[in-house]
Amino acid sequence: MIYLDYTANTPVSDAVLTVFCDVSREFIANPNAAHSAGHAAREKLEGYSENIARLLCLSDHDIIYTSGATESNNLAILGAAMERRSRGRHILSTFLEHSSVNGPLAKLQSEGFDVEYISPLPDGSLDLDALSDALTPKTTLVSVCYVDSELGATQDIAAIAERIRVVPGCLFHVDATQAVGKIPLDLDKADLISLAPHKFYGLTGSGILAVRRGISLQPQIHGGISTTPYRSGTPTLALAAAAEKALGLALENIEEKRRIVSEHNRRLRAHFENDKRIIINSTARCVPHILNISLPGLSSEDMKNRLDERGVLLSTRSACCAPGTVSRPVYAVTGNKKRALSTLRISLSHLTTPEELTHFLKIFDDCLTAIAT
Ligand code: PMP
Repeated sequence: MIYLDYTANTPVSDAVLTVFCDVSREFIANPNAAHSAGHAAREKLEGYSENIARLLCLSDHDIIYTSGATESNNLAILGAAMERRSRGRHILSTFLEHSSVNGPLAKLQSEGFDVEYISPLPDGSLDLDALSDALTPKTTLVSVCYVDSELGATQDIAAIAERIRVVPGCLFHVDATQAVGKIPLDLDKADLISLAPHKFYGLTGSGILAVRRGISLQPQIHGGISTTPYRSGTPTLALAAAAEKALGLALENIEEKRRIVSEHNRRLRAHFENDKRIIINSTARCVPHILNISLPGLSSEDMKNRLDERGVLLSTRSACCAPGTVSRPVYAVTGNKKRALSTLRISLSHLTTPEELTHFLKIFDDCLTAIAT
């Protein structure tokens, strides 16, 4: 198998699994329990939260544990918008967002909120002047992904925060799910930050929402009082431990890992640039871990299936998208429907080997010739 779908999920590292098992065995009490074992578990949980905030360089944020970035995005967007609806019902986002951001935004729209989407510039960066023009005194939330999941375009979070600052009380949510471990993080100016360890060699079923202290959110899950009022239920101490371990590892040697991935990316680009049937969609602003290409006029779904039959695993779109639909980010950046309908997303890791890529390119060329004739 040649796995080139690291954007959808990464393999869990052994060190993370070991931490998960050790903490599960050692701490049997509920962190909410009012006895000494419960207090010990709670203290441990608070320690993991402090470390996670520190690793993310957040000076003033609490950590909420969720089931994944989808839940974090839903809690951030629905929780913030509903809590602040008496102040305003205007929300801004972008055409680059994942379906777990578009979904809650669509729900808010159906409930009478005014949701506006800002276009990216041709290089994939958000049009900051369009953002400034769209902000109103009634804007209560701006939601932007740090790195989008289809093209890999990165945003300048500090510059966006600076534009938003002119509207007092307007919150800034960053979906950082695809950024962690790929780029140096600059998140302290964001109020709400979503991430998920399974995108950086941690465990699935675990997510994080970092929330600036003092911000209140309308809870989306109702139940007993837990470690946080926003997410009732027994916190999974071992998942928090695993998240902390995965984050620590993801931030280690980030430059060296990026160098390896950049080399892989350069090699694929050089190969694809020589083939007139292929257009590269990922721009210079995109992380090297994601290379999005189009096969205009051809079926990328057919291509993906043929590659799968030959042992190569990649995606046409983000794993949560309906098949056969246009890629919203590619359409927003290129303005070309044919390109947006025929995308393939190749995602790379520092674990990818040069031999795998040699093999991949040979199989890719065979399959492309088969579907193009
Ligand atoms: N946001 C982005 C940018 C993503 O790439 C993903 C996963 N594809 C999500 C949110 C949702 O993450 P999860 O699968 O952990 O719910």
